Amino acid sequence: MPKAETAQPGEPGSSGGEAYDLIVVGAGPAGLMAAGTAAATGSRVLVLEKNRDPGRKLLISGGGRCNFTNAEFDLHRLVAKYGSTGKALLSPFSRMGPAEVLEFFESRGMPYKIEDENRAFPRSDASRSVLAVLTAYARDGGVEIRTNTAVDGLVIENERVAGVRVASRTIRSAAVVVATGGLARPDTGSTGDGFLWLERAGHTIVRPAPALVPIVVEEPWVERLQGLAFSDVRITVRTPDAVIAKRDGKILFTHFGLSGPGILNLASTIADAASSDRTPGWNVQVVIDFFPSEDDGAFDRRLLALIAAHPLRKLRTILEEIVPPRLVQQVLTNVAAPDDLTGATVPKVVRKKVVQELKALRLTFRALQSEDWAVVSSGGVPVEEVEFRTMQSKRVSGLSIVGDMLHIDRPSGGYSLQICWATGYVAGSSAC
Ligand SMILES: Cc1cc2nc3c(=O)[nH]c(=O)nc-3n(C[C@H](O)[C@H](O)[C@H](O)COP(=O)(O)OP(=O)(O)OC[C@H]3O[C@@H](n4cnc5c(N)ncnc54)[C@H](O)[C@@H]3O)c2cc1C
Repeated sequence: MPKAETAQPGEPGSSGGEAYDLIVVGAGPAGLMAAGTAAATGSRVLVLEKNRDPGRKLLISGGGRCNFTNAEFDLHRLVAKYGSTGKALLSPFSRMGPAEVLEFFESRGMPYKIEDENRAFPRSDASRSVLAVLTAYARDGGVEIRTNTAVDGLVIENERVAGVRVASRTIRSAAVVVATGGLARPDTGSTGDGFLWLERAGHTIVRPAPALVPIVVEEPWVERLQGLAFSDVRITVRTPDAVIAKRDGKILFTHFGLSGPGILNLASTIADAASSDRTPGWNVQVVIDFFPSEDDGAFDRRLLALIAAHPLRKLRTILEEIVPPRLVQQVLTNVAAPDDLTGATVPKVVRKKVVQELKALRLTFRALQSEDWAVVSSGGVPVEEVEFRTMQSKRVSGLSIVGDMLHIDRPSGGYSLQICWATGYVAGSSAC
């Protein structure tokens, strides 16, 4: 329900009389939460969104299911997940932590479920449910959401924000929330516009780079495994001299390499290791153990028993009892096993090589995929330049900065949207 009409072009550069208590730039999760919260306190709020519809990135979150928060209720443990910059989040999380977020959505008619690693999803498995709650929250409070409207810049007078520029006109407001997102997946509308405005306004911008992002590997045959997902594999990142990182998690084979939470969370570590590895001819390797709960000996004994139990069956069919067929095919190709091997004719050397492939499949890191594929980009406004009790800029009065615009490390698992809800909520309750 609009509270003010779009002004007709009047005097060049003037707003033609529009008056809002708050303008929010960007109708993503952080912007909509800020807008709805400000409106709930009685403020007149305008949201400006350059896309045709709000929440485009939210809709593709979590593979379309939207892992909307992480149900870690111990706030100290929660902020520890965000690395060295996480402490800044204690204040916003104490007002809109995961418990409050779950309650916010459930009380507005969106039941949820908690999956492994505390990941919270709407019970519908549809990110549309999350967006529906948010847009209803904003609209019920009387927020005007104006889509197809790209903001060109901020209007700042005497170190105070005074409004925004849209198509050479000014829309005035003494409070502005910048919620234009990071740089990951620019096709969703987050093209980094807000970073340019904030830099001009005197903020530091840590150069955004893809952070939670799939990796590209050298082995062309991964393409044949595209779409295969494995939960609970062990991923080891190695250089010639050292093990750089080891963690258990989910992986997904893609056209060019690997994705899935386990890989996304290691992407920056892998890229750092690659950029510091100076050994000629040896790249960083990502080693996958598909059976981490068994050591090599135990797995070999299990395989031996399986093979011995089926002397007449093809090795391929035997392996398919424990591994998906496309991976079996690739493993047998990698070890150059003849197609006609049966349980009775499998040489020990072939069995040992199969064990090696399934316990330590080596993939050679080539590069991170670009921002076009990233879930989150690192970089943005340093936490020191924002007052987290209000989310207001320490450089420009009346200006708030929220969501993916903040330079905070975020692992995969609902942690990124948790930042959006909390910072959006705090900005919305403090901005006017
Ligand atoms: C594939 C993918 C999967 C993800 N999955 C998850 C997940 O499961 N869980 C999780 O926690 N996080 C996930 N994320 C991250 C999460 O989606 C983001 O953290 C979140 O969307 C950021 O919200 P935001 O409001 O800060 O910015 P955005 O969602 O990026 O919204 C910014 C909005 O601002 C608009 N805008 C930009 N410039 C202008 C302008 N000049 N004028 C007007 N409007 C403008 C954009 O069009 C956009 O609508 C995922 C991200 C991706 C890409």
